[in-house]
Amino acid sequence: MDRFDNTEIAFCIKSDRELDRAYYLFRMMRKPALVKIGSSLVKIGLALHLPIKGIIRATVFDHFCGGVSIQDCENIIRKMHSQGVSSILDYSIEGQDEESSFVHAEEVAVEAIPIAKEKAEIPFTVFKPTGMARLELLAKVQEGSELSKSEMEEWERVKKRFDRIAKTAYENDLPLMIDAEETWIQTVCDNLVIDLMRKYNKKKTIVFNTLQMYRHDRMDHIKWLLEDSKEHNYKIGLKIVRGAYMEKERERAEEMGYPDPIQKNKEATDRDFDLSMEFMTEHIDHFSICCGTHNEESSDKLTKLLAKHKISKDDPRVYFSQLFGMSDHISYNLAAEGYNVVKYLPYGPVTKVMPYLFRRAEENTSIEGQTGRELNLLTKEKKRRKGH
Ligand SMILES: Cc1cc2nc3c(=O)[nH]c(=O)nc-3n(C[C@H](O)[C@H](O)[C@H](O)COP(=O)(O)OP(=O)(O)OC[C@H]3O[C@@H](n4cnc5c(N)ncnc54)[C@H](O)[C@@H]3O)c2cc1C
Repeated sequence: MDRFDNTEIAFCIKSDRELDRAYYLFRMMRKPALVKIGSSLVKIGLALHLPIKGIIRATVFDHFCGGVSIQDCENIIRKMHSQGVSSILDYSIEGQDEESSFVHAEEVAVEAIPIAKEKAEIPFTVFKPTGMARLELLAKVQEGSELSKSEMEEWERVKKRFDRIAKTAYENDLPLMIDAEETWIQTVCDNLVIDLMRKYNKKKTIVFNTLQMYRHDRMDHIKWLLEDSKEHNYKIGLKIVRGAYMEKERERAEEMGYPDPIQKNKEATDRDFDLSMEFMTEHIDHFSICCGTHNEESSDKLTKLLAKHKISKDDPRVYFSQLFGMSDHISYNLAAEGYNVVKYLPYGPVTKVMPYLFRRAEENTSIEGQTGRELNLLTKEKKRRKGH
């Protein structure tokens, strides 16, 4: 799409070396066998404590992450912001299931809020439910299973943890996004987040939930939310995404014999993604929107809806969002046009961020079209810099 084709703008903060690194990385990720072998070798290397962190940092980590700590991210946050692109600091450690790691993640989240509040470059904070709670516990609560005494206590701690983070965000006037995950824990997370919205979004939108439009029930949910917000007098914050767990969802539904919660095809997901943007811009007095996508058509569509509803490009209720290391052509070109753009900037200790990096690598092998697109843009920019 023409408006996203300006590679000089897209890669304006990348040095020639960083551009080369991105180019070789995306070329490598196009080869699923290589990604598989590479991932296995990294897992073995880390398990054996081989000195491979340096290699990981110099390649995939530095491309997809801001650093190992907030301080480490500061340079990149400044650089991005100099071109109009803000950051959401995302403490991306995944796959933990120990209480101590949840307690640690809670402290990290709470401490990050006042730091972010001081910086115009960081307009949101974020967390992922399974970074704060055990997936099995959330699943048990959702299916209504009886909890043991210790599980009941654990569940109380989870509720308090969510509330403490949201309260800190509210007190610091810093919007908080909460990611969406698997359907078998999402209802219980939605309910927690709706309670937080009712509590902290009375005057302005502090708490944002995430809706995955690959689910066929999400348009109904948005309409229900509008009614609920009128009844309980609160503003609705929503990040909309298509959804990242499609295969897992379909497999589980088939295995356990319940109806597939995912739309029947990509077109249906795209249709509902569009409908959600239409609905929210039409009712913008009730909604704040964060459009989390690497899809050019969706991003373009939202700009048109803003124009249609006479919502200014930099209205604080509307953000476009991509992940750091991906779709810079959308982020930087939209920012250059004056839209609000924020990129998820993952950070954390190298070994703990590895599951996030494996997911990015796998995702980029499976989204063949997108990887091809990244490569074409990188090739174009390399040529432009060489003067032909
Ligand atoms: C800023 C940001 C935040 C994100 N946060 C979350 C989050 O909290 N939770 C989460 O789950 N994901 C999250 N994601 C990931 C997101 O859900 C998508 O997986 C990813 O962005 C790819 O979708 P797309 O809209 O960018 O691109 P596209 O390439 O247009 O769409 C690909 C997506 O379409 C859907 N799809 C593909 N094939 C089919 C099919 N046959 N039937 C039905 N649907 C299909 C899938 O969702 C697939 O991921 C986030 C992404 C971004 C950019």
